[in-house]
Amino acid sequence: GRSEQSVGTMRIITVANQKGGVGKTTTAINLATALAAIGERVLLVDLDPQGNASTGLGIDRRDRSVSSYDVLTGEASVDEAAMQTAVPGLSIVPSTLDLLGIEMEIAASADRVLKLRNALRRHAAESARFTYVLIDCPPSLNLLTLNSMAAADSVLVPLQCEFFALEGLSQLLATVEQVRGSINPALSIQGIVLTMYDGRNNLANQVVADVRAHMGEKVYETVIPRNVRVSEAPSYGKPAILYDLKCTGSQAYLQLASEVIRRERRLRAA
Ligand code: ADP
Ligand code: MG
Repeated sequence: GRSEQSVGTMRIITVANQKGGVGKTTTAINLATALAAIGERVLLVDLDPQGNASTGLGIDRRDRSVSSYDVLTGEASVDEAAMQTAVPGLSIVPSTLDLLGIEMEIAASADRVLKLRNALRRHAAESARFTYVLIDCPPSLNLLTLNSMAAADSVLVPLQCEFFALEGLSQLLATVEQVRGSINPALSIQGIVLTMYDGRNNLANQVVADVRAHMGEKVYETVIPRNVRVSEAPSYGKPAILYDLKCTGSQAYLQLASEVIRRERRLRAA
């Protein structure tokens, strides 16, 4: 049957890794774009105070009058906070630096870990405008990331192809386990995606082999190559997939999207 977490047909995927610079935001933006391109109604929730997902999707700071902060504090609904992006079918709840103070503000409330989940459930019950919700997490296992895991059906973990790739992964997986054991028993691992792969680098090949050996089929077949077009795209306020559809990075993200969809169908049916 349907997990207690799923509401209607809306699927919620959180993109998390407590390390910075591993490709969370890039993955969230491009996966969201790829899903929108195939006709899903997608919402990206920017939960990082840095707001890189919001900036990368061309949302000017001055236009972020309602943000993920307001959704977490209950001052705004998901519908009120969602802004249309330049990508058809893709909306974003932008973030602002206000989020830096959120831990202290909600620390005392009993449902501090459930703020996002409650807001998304309300959305699902009231308008169900979106079929996919992707969450871009900050580089930390803080209350924001916990809120995302409490709300999500699954966790997608980007790992950078570098020597310390696996370091920190066990802590992340332990956190997922802890959330599963308490507030969200239905939470699963969507998968692990290797990012910024450089085939000319022998170490990168070793890292790919190591991660596959340790994590088995949790690891997507698709590996995201290091690609300068991908890193340029955010400065134009565009997903790589819009900036340069043909580049190797964009093509890899499209391929990743089809793997994600296949896995979501399997998870949904479970
Ligand atoms: P995180 O959100 O985990 O901190 P980002 O997605 O912001 O990571 O990526 C970190 C940096 O690496 C950014 O400058 C981004 O543009 C760059 N980057 C991410 N993926 C790629 C890629 N496949 N090729 C080249 N640069 C990338
Ligand atoms: Mg980021």
